[in-house]
Amino acid sequence: RLIRLRERLAKSNSIFGKGLLALLSSDRIDEGVWEEVEETLLLADIGTDASMDLVDTLRERVRVMGTRSPEHVRAMLREELVNLVDPTMDRTLNVARTDGKPAVVLVVGVNGVGKTTTVGKLARVLVAEDKDVLLGAADTFRAAAAQQLATWGARVGVPTVKSDVDGADPASVAFEAVKSGIEQEVDVVMVDTAGRLQNKVGLMDELGKVKRVIEKQADVDEVLLVLDATTGQNGLAQAKVFAEVVDITGIVLTKLDGTAKGGIVVAIQKQLGVPVKLVGLGEGPDDLAPFDAESFVDAILA
Ligand code: GDP
Repeated sequence: RLIRLRERLAKSNSIFGKGLLALLSSDRIDEGVWEEVEETLLLADIGTDASMDLVDTLRERVRVMGTRSPEHVRAMLREELVNLVDPTMDRTLNVARTDGKPAVVLVVGVNGVGKTTTVGKLARVLVAEDKDVLLGAADTFRAAAAQQLATWGARVGVPTVKSDVDGADPASVAFEAVKSGIEQEVDVVMVDTAGRLQNKVGLMDELGKVKRVIEKQADVDEVLLVLDATTGQNGLAQAKVFAEVVDITGIVLTKLDGTAKGGIVVAIQKQLGVPVKLVGLGEGPDDLAPFDAESFVDAILA
């Protein structure tokens, strides 16, 4: 999987990594070069503060380094980028049964970011780890959403609890899903939700209620916020709204295969103080990878 992360990211994101390497390998690194370095970081969506900090650190390191070999420059850049992505964050998914009950994973995010697809892919990963999984289709807003989730469930070989009534109460579907999961003694219940950001109060009410209703029966172990990496600053704004509504425990960054803006990982983690735990690298069932600072940076510098 990590090899795939490397292959998939290399295409779009190495443009940014290679650009940085080339700039830092210039014979003379003057202010103009540093400006270009900063611009490159900003274009990759790393964010203003982080870009400035990184440039300051690199400038100081290059100054004290004296002679620079390409290996030196590469090692230095790798080290600083890894630090920025933060290898110390705990990226483990909490999907173990506790107190004789299934782990509950709530998946939230705006429509179209890849929530349902992520639930399907993650179910597949968990099934491959020999876990019994059950899906709950609490995205009752879009008529086709529940069916799309059930299709993923069938594809992966796990049951889906959904309502056949259009516009059913998401909280009741979530309740029924967790209830079934407890009765069937599954390991993980994953609940897909709707994300109508147009109405923040409505969203807050709905997600809050979904969570409360689940918690009448079992703890919610993970709240995964799914964000589309291609949406840049817009994604950051979305993340903020969701973080106000529920306690996010992890981020899934989708569509990293289609953007050179991998720096958004840094910006989002800094903004929310929550780790990116998984990344989406395509539309297929295997296109989900665990996130890890070192492999990510190696992919960027590949
Ligand atoms: P939802 O509305 O948030 O549930 O989004 P969906 O799961 O329906 O996904 C929306 C679209 O994004 C679909 O066409 C997916 O195939 C696509 N998609 C989801 N994840 C990824 C990804 O990691 N990479 C790419 N390239 N496409 C993705």
